[in-house]
Amino acid sequence: MARPKVCILFAGGTIGMIKNQKTGVLQPATNASEILRHIPELQKYVQLDLKMVVNIDSSNMNPSHWTDIAKAINTLYDKYEGFVVVQGTDTMAYTASALSFALQNLSKPIVLTGSLIPLSEIGADGRNNLVYACLTATLDIAEVCIVFANRIIRGNRAKKHHESFVDVFHSPNYPYLGELGRPTVLFEWRKLRRKRVLKFRPNFDPKISVLKLFPGFDPEIIERVVERGAHGIIIEGFGPGNIPFLDNSIIPQIEKAVDKNIPVVIANQLEKGVTNLNAYEGGFNAMKAGAISSKDMTTEAIVAKLMWTLAYTNKISTIKAVMEKNLSGELTE
Ligand code: ASP
Repeated sequence: MARPKVCILFAGGTIGMIKNQKTGVLQPATNASEILRHIPELQKYVQLDLKMVVNIDSSNMNPSHWTDIAKAINTLYDKYEGFVVVQGTDTMAYTASALSFALQNLSKPIVLTGSLIPLSEIGADGRNNLVYACLTATLDIAEVCIVFANRIIRGNRAKKHHESFVDVFHSPNYPYLGELGRPTVLFEWRKLRRKRVLKFRPNFDPKISVLKLFPGFDPEIIERVVERGAHGIIIEGFGPGNIPFLDNSIIPQIEKAVDKNIPVVIANQLEKGVTNLNAYEGGFNAMKAGAISSKDMTTEAIVAKLMWTLAYTNKISTIKAVMEKNLSGELTE
């Protein structure tokens, strides 16, 4: 039987790093293209090709790298059963979210993975993750997901949680898509493979700000961000998206930003966060001032979605409608 073809797009991270003998810190290896050498037995089942996108610590990744990855997948889309994107865990949830907006209507899986220990070190988690990610890329899944340890997680619902082998990513507001093991179990709420026309929109406008509220937050910070030319603002409020509306009220600043056609999204700081602007006066006033609710999106998904939306429109009513609508399983409507 013909082996399914899977394309690995390599974008760096610990998995391809080596230890600098002088400083002891991990750095991208120059020979990361050799990662296929670490999984020889897998190639009996899957035909693997490797394409290098970039080899950097994921803290250095920009939206332009998301665009590069999306473009590479779009170009190769018909040639492979599925894709594996290898990158660092630190910003993996952002990349996964971004790809879920750049490549919509998928008919095959795009699986992100990486590791906490370099592949070149004994006892590395990267080998297992890579093997499982490649196998997942052949399964009946048609969405962007993260495979780490034994979990398959919807990419735009994932959050980096812990630096431990088994618990790196959580999906606070959505069930896991599957569990890898004996047997591998896929849950019913995943998107299934079927013929669909891919919607390819790979651009992102990075000119946004994310502001985290704290007691004593100076409302002027929002004005400065507007003056510096932000195209969109995300405010992480308290509890379910509550914001100050008395002494340190930020309502006038939200109104001013919206008047200038700058969308303001209210998010929350909860671990299992759902924004509800109808719960308290603060959120309600923000809504009246024109703010957008992030609903149950992760901050990672909100960032990628706002950048993506801004790349295609600057009409504030359209931005609000898009941000509050479910595009790729990132929010519960
Ligand atoms: N700092 C690394 C990165 O995100 C961590 C990792 O690969 O998990 O690139």
